[in-house]
Amino acid sequence: MINVTALLRSELSWFVLAILAALVAGLIVGAPLLLMLLASIGYTIWLLVRMANIVKWLESGAASSKAPPTMGLMDQVVGLIHREKAYSRKQKNRYRSTLARFNHLAAVLPDATVVFDNMRNIQWSNHAANTLLNIHEERDHGQRIDNLLRAPEMLNYLAQEEEGLEVEVSSPVAPEKTLSMIKVKAAKGMTVLIARDITQRVKVREMRKAFVADVSHELRTPLTVIRGYLEMVLDDDMLDTKNKDALLNVQAQSDRMQHIVEHLLELSKLEGNPLGESEGQPIVVSSLLQNTVKVLNESIGSSHELIVDADEELLLIGSESEIYSAINNLLANAINYTNAGTRVIASWHLNDTGLPLLSIDDNGAGIEAQHLHRLSERFYRVDKGRSRENGGTGLGLAIVKHAAQRHGGQLLINSTPGHGSQFQIEFPASRIASAAKVMNM
Ligand code: ADP
Repeated sequence: MINVTALLRSELSWFVLAILAALVAGLIVGAPLLLMLLASIGYTIWLLVRMANIVKWLESGAASSKAPPTMGLMDQVVGLIHREKAYSRKQKNRYRSTLARFNHLAAVLPDATVVFDNMRNIQWSNHAANTLLNIHEERDHGQRIDNLLRAPEMLNYLAQEEEGLEVEVSSPVAPEKTLSMIKVKAAKGMTVLIARDITQRVKVREMRKAFVADVSHELRTPLTVIRGYLEMVLDDDMLDTKNKDALLNVQAQSDRMQHIVEHLLELSKLEGNPLGESEGQPIVVSSLLQNTVKVLNESIGSSHELIVDADEELLLIGSESEIYSAINNLLANAINYTNAGTRVIASWHLNDTGLPLLSIDDNGAGIEAQHLHRLSERFYRVDKGRSRENGGTGLGLAIVKHAAQRHGGQLLINSTPGHGSQFQIEFPASRIASAAKVMNM
């Protein structure tokens, strides 16, 4: 700690000494006041010169070797400046080495990372950005990112306001590589774009899909042959009851297998294969609902009350067979997993936010909350026994989910045990068509 009082005292004692010396000299020459005045002016000028030297030294960069010769208070000022400079040099070195370490770490990260500002100008990128996105750390600094990533899917993604969404795109460097891109907003208007090479993951996913599709396809023929022979043998009047019962059992199981194979094939066609933005035909969803309910009513009689509440003017652009399959699965579930006397309402309207919403509501027994998020997984069933009894494959809701996703929509499930369940598909506004418009086309 600097003792400021002691410093002032020493500076003051130099001043007093100079005045006293001037007084003695003044008394000798007979002009004490004049010499004292001259001494104080001289001292002030000397002080100002020392200060001016320090200012000049500071202005020239305050190099330690060029520090002006000082004493007293000014010497302390120079000492403090030396100390501050040494401290800030140390801090600067620390920041520099932290930055170097961060840059090194970011450079070796396998994920491409690009930081851009709200004008989309690139502020920083790492080495992987060069290998995966062809964005060079130095060459492309300050360039607009949308001038460098020109593929329509990438431009669409960059233009989207919503953050945290993940998209799969092909690498602009090597189109055979698939990248998963995500962007997040950082502080001060900056956005961080991260791209990861998921080529292997996509390959494994595609292989699994192809394997399931191939196996299902291969099982189809032997199953058809088995079912044909079974029918032939069952037609035989000579068959005794014991054997007939056993064969009827085999037939029921082969029917079940046939359903699973058909559902697996349907699923593999839908999965990860989105429809183009304007792909599809205008579908009169209200008619699909009416017709499905009519057919179901014929088969179940009066066990359930089926009600349709649909906007006939509201059409959906999409694949009719897929929407029919989704409606059929949802209505069949609402009948199969509820007791006789249950009321099922199938509705089709624009919801509060103006999006087309298909909803199948029942006032059945409902589903416990812990099952809800797993219902659309393949082969997930709440009540295995009941599903089997109803001929369920455990794939119905997975098909509904993928059909919804193919249309850019999403499956929403709500249920309250004791009150009923609600299965909804919310479609994007881009899939709306109106009956009046379609008629005029
Ligand atoms: P499944 O072929 O077994 O019907 P789904 O994928 O269609 O398979 O349905 C999964 C499970 O969800 C069913 O096994 C059933 O337990 C439950 N579930 C579906 N719909 C309803 C509903 N409306 N009410 C109660 N449970 C339902």
